[in-house]
Amino acid sequence: MAEHVDVLIIGAGLSGIGAACHLRRAFPQRTYLLLESRAALGGTWDLFRYPGIRSDSDMYTLGYRFKPWLGEESIADGSAILGYLRETAAEYGVDRRIRFRHRVIRAEWSSVDSRWTVHAERTDTGENVTFTAGFLFSCAGYYRYDAGYTPEFPGAERFAGSIVHPQFWPEKLDCAGKRVVLIGSGATAVTLAPALTAQGAHVTMLQRSPSYIISAPSRDRLALTARRVLPVRAAYALARAEYVAISTALYQFSRRNPAVMRKRIHGWQRRWLPAGYDIHTHFTPRYEPWDQRLCLARDGDFFRAIRHGMLDVVTDRIETFTDTGLRLASGATLEADIVITATGLNLQVFGGVELVVDGAPVRPSATMAYKAMMLSGVPNFAFVIGYTNASWTLKADLVSEYVIRLLKHMDEHGYVRCVPVRDPSVGAQSLFPGFTPGYVRRSESLFPVQGDRAPWRLRMNYLRDVFTLRYGRIADGAMFFERAPRRAEAAARD
Ligand SMILES: Cc1cc2nc3c(=O)[nH]c(=O)nc-3n(C[C@H](O)[C@H](O)[C@H](O)COP(=O)(O)OP(=O)(O)OC[C@H]3O[C@@H](n4cnc5c(N)ncnc54)[C@H](O)[C@@H]3O)c2cc1C
Repeated sequence: MAEHVDVLIIGAGLSGIGAACHLRRAFPQRTYLLLESRAALGGTWDLFRYPGIRSDSDMYTLGYRFKPWLGEESIADGSAILGYLRETAAEYGVDRRIRFRHRVIRAEWSSVDSRWTVHAERTDTGENVTFTAGFLFSCAGYYRYDAGYTPEFPGAERFAGSIVHPQFWPEKLDCAGKRVVLIGSGATAVTLAPALTAQGAHVTMLQRSPSYIISAPSRDRLALTARRVLPVRAAYALARAEYVAISTALYQFSRRNPAVMRKRIHGWQRRWLPAGYDIHTHFTPRYEPWDQRLCLARDGDFFRAIRHGMLDVVTDRIETFTDTGLRLASGATLEADIVITATGLNLQVFGGVELVVDGAPVRPSATMAYKAMMLSGVPNFAFVIGYTNASWTLKADLVSEYVIRLLKHMDEHGYVRCVPVRDPSVGAQSLFPGFTPGYVRRSESLFPVQGDRAPWRLRMNYLRDVFTLRYGRIADGAMFFERAPRRAEAAARD
C-alpha cells in the first residue's frame, strides 16, 4: 500500500523546510512528508563545502519571515545558514517528517482519484517506494546536484595538478602555499578567491569577461542596534524592511539608470583597488548592472586580497591546459598547482521529476507558469523558484503562503482540484526576462514560459508579489476548481 499524505514536498532544502513549517503552522492536523534524495537536509547549504562558502544576500531576507535570524552577521557563512535551517526544522518538528535518501523520479496525477502517485527511488537500497498525495509541492531547487557545469577545456587531461569544481570540494584539499588558478568571475569565484588567499594560496582569478563586484559589510549596525532595543520579532521585521527597501531601490535605480550605476560602481572600485589598477579591463562588464546578479565582496575581502598582492585578476581566454598550467589566447601562460573551475551550475527543472497528468507526460517548457509558482494544466501542483534580484526566501515564503491560502480556499468550498488553465490570448515570455547569466541562457528552454500579463506574469518584484500572492484573489478566473466527482459519475466515467 502506498503511504498517503495531504501534501508531499519534494526537497528538504531552504524552500522545502520553509514550506513544511508554513504547513505545520497553518494546518497542524494535515499530513505531510518531505522526500529528500540526499542523506541530509539543507540542500545548497549542505552540499557546497568550498572554503569561504557564504550567502551573498543578507540573512534578514534570506531568513524566513516567521523565524528571526539571530546571527551577528548579515552576510553569513554556509555553516551558520545550515545551522539555522536545522534549528528551524527541529523547532517545527519538520525534521521528523523528512524521508531521506528518497529521490523522486516520477509523479502521476489522476483526475479520477484527484491525487498524485509519486514514485521515489531509495538512493541507498535502490528500492522503489510509492506515495500518494492530494497536493504536490516541488521545492527541489534549480540545479543538478550530481554535476556542476564545466566547459570542455582543451588539454585538461595533460594537466599534472588537480582540477577541482567547487560543487565537489575535496575535504582534504590543501591550498596553502600553492599557485591556484580560479576560472570564473561569478559569486562563487568572488567568494573563493579571498578565502583561498587567507589559507595562504596565491590565487589568479582567470575570467573570460568581468562581473560587477561591490563591497558589502558583513554586519549591519542598524539591525544589531534594533535588536538591543526592540523585541526580537520587531527588530527582525525592521531589518527585513530595511533590506527589502534597499535592495528594491538599488535594483530599480540600476535598471532605470544603468549608466549612473556603472559610474557609481566604477567610483567605488577606484577607492577599493590599488592606484592605477586597470578597472576598465578587469572590472567593467559588457552587460548592465543587474542583467546578472551583483557579486558581493564581504567587507571588501576580494579587493583587499588584490591590494595585498595575493590575488591577481586576468581577463583572457583559455587556449589550452598545459602540463603545468594554462596557455591563454593572448599567448600568456599561467603556472598552477591547482585549477578550480568555478564555471557554474547545470540547471534542472523540478528536480528532474517526470510529471504526468492523466497519462500524458508534461513537458515543463510547453506549459505557462501561473504567478511563477504553478503550471498551466497541472493540477494541485506548485513549485518554488526564488528571485534572481533578491533573496530566494522572500519568494519561497510568499509561494508557501499562497499555497496555504489556496488549500484553505479549497477546503472552504469542498474543492479537490485546482488547475490554472492557459488563456491562448496571453503572450509568452521568458520566466527570467532580462536576466542573462550563462547558466540561465544555457538552460532557459527547459523552463516553463510566463505570460505577458497577470496572473501569468510576475515581475521579480517582492513588493508587488506581496500584494499578488499574500493578498490577491485566489479565484481569479485563470484558476479552475473542481469538487470530487460523485461516486456514480466516477463509476460511469470508468
Ligand atoms: C553557492 C550558492 C550560493 C547561493 N547564495 C545565495 C544567496 O546568498 N542568496 C540567495 O537568495 N540565493 C542563493 N543561492 C541560491 C540558493 O540555491 C537558494 O538560496 C536556496 O538555497 C535554494 O533553496 P531550495 O530549497 O529551493 O533548493 P536547494 O537548496 O537546491 O535544495 C533542494 C533540495 O531538493 C532535493 N532534491 C532535488 N531534486 C530532488 C528529487 N528529485 N527528489 C528528492 N529530493 C530532491 C535536493 O537534494 C536538495 O536537498 C545560492 C546558490 C548557490 C549554489
